[in-house]
Amino acid sequence: MDNCVFCKIVRGEIPCKKVYEDELVLAFDDISPQAPVHVLLVPKHHAADILKTDVADTGACIAALPKVVAAKGLTSFRLIVNTGADAGQTVPHLHFHILGGKDMGERII
Ligand code: AMP
Ligand code: ZN
Repeated sequence: MDNCVFCKIVRGEIPCKKVYEDELVLAFDDISPQAPVHVLLVPKHHAADILKTDVADTGACIAALPKVVAAKGLTSFRLIVNTGADAGQTVPHLHFHILGGKDMGERII
């Protein structure tokens, strides 16, 4: 997608702090971290959200998850997928937030 910020990061047109990459996914530090570790894990193929993506791309993200968290030395983390405006999704390219590096507490919101 021409104007998608995460597609631009995948294409190298916008810089990122890369955490992990393979053929199907890219993980990079969130530009506005909400925790000591805040990584975004995205499929390289564009899809607006988790309801519109190809399940193979979602699967590729989940398959990469152990490598992404290991790259950050995380054993505990919170995985969040905001979907839709009311859930706070601001970038319409599927992304998994990986948050950790501190006691995250029990509350989800
Ligand atoms: P969401 O609100 O779930 O759509 O999350 C979008 C996330 O993308 C936010 O946490 C932003 O801080 C992050 N973000 C937006 N632009 C960039 C960028 N250029 N590099 C890294 N993270 C970004
Ligand atoms: Zn995109």
